[in-house]
Amino acid sequence: MPIKTWHGSDAVEGGKLVGSTDTDYFYFHCPTCGDSEVLRILDFKVIKDGPVEYNPELRKKEKRDFIIAFELLCNNCGFHDFTKVANIGWQGGKLKDTHVMQLARFGAEQDKKAG
Ligand SMILES: [Zn+2]
Repeated sequence: MPIKTWHGSDAVEGGKLVGSTDTDYFYFHCPTCGDSEVLRILDFKVIKDGPVEYNPELRKKEKRDFIIAFELLCNNCGFHDFTKVANIGWQGGKLKDTHVMQLARFGAEQDKKAG
C-alpha cells in the first residue's frame, strides 16, 4: 500500500471517479474495472472541520466548512487511491464547465490526436 497522502491521483481526476447509490448509501465505482465495481472505503480523514470561512456572503445556509478524504481500494483489481468530499469550492453549476474538466477534455483530445 502506498503512503497515505490523502491526495487522489490522476486516475480519479477529470471525471474518472464516479459513483451511485442503492438505498441512501453512496458507493464509489472502480475507474479501472468499470461496470460499477464498488470500491471499499478503507479509511477517512477529516481534513477541515470548522466555521464557515469560505465565501460566507454566498453560503449563509451552511453551518460549517468541511473536507473529508477517503482511502479507496478495489477488491477486484487492487486499485488504490484517495478522493475528497467537501462543502467548499464547487457547490453548484455543471462540473463539465470547471477549469479542471476543461483541461481534462483538452488533454484527452491531445492524446487522441497523438494516437
Ligand atoms: Zn477495480
